[in-house]
Order: sequence, then structure tokens, then C-alpha cells
Amino acid sequence: TYIVNDSCIACKYTDCVEVCPVDCFYEGENMLVIHPDECIDCGVCEPECPADAIRPDTEPDMDKWVEFNRKYSEIW
Ligand code: SF4
Repeated sequence: TYIVNDSCIACKYTDCVEVCPVDCFYEGENMLVIHPDECIDCGVCEPECPADAIRPDTEPDMDKWVEFNRKYSEIW
């Protein structure tokens, strides 16, 4: 699963959203988020992000961001 972190804040690029084959990006308050259960871990969005804000959830200290992405994916 890939997850968006705070490097996305105020980013105006949405190339990641367009390439996602399962449309699992959602609008957070001031950044995009990925629904952790809908992401199929394909990885195509990662190189599209100019802010390097899309990271795999296997990286250290990602738990907080996984919960953040889940929360804002389900809020609307
Ligand atoms: Fe979508 Fe693939 Fe990125 Fe997951 S890794 S958010 S499925 S483009």
C-alpha cells in the first residue's frame, strides 16, 4: 500500500490521481490521501509525484500516515 505524507500539502499536481488504475485517491483538507484498503500497491503513482510525497507503507514511521490517509479517505 502506498500512502501520502505531508510533503503533499498545497501541491497543485494531480498527475498521481490520473494514473491510479483503481481511483483510490481522495481529497483531504489541504492534501491528497490514498485509501489504504483500496490501493493495489501497483506503484505507478510514486514517480508522478514531484514532492516525493507518496511512499510505501513499509517505510519506517508510516503508521501515523496510514491512519491519517484512512481517516480522510472515508470522511466524505
Ligand atoms: Fe493507485 Fe497504484 Fe498508487 Fe496505489 S500504488 S494509489 S493503486 S496508483
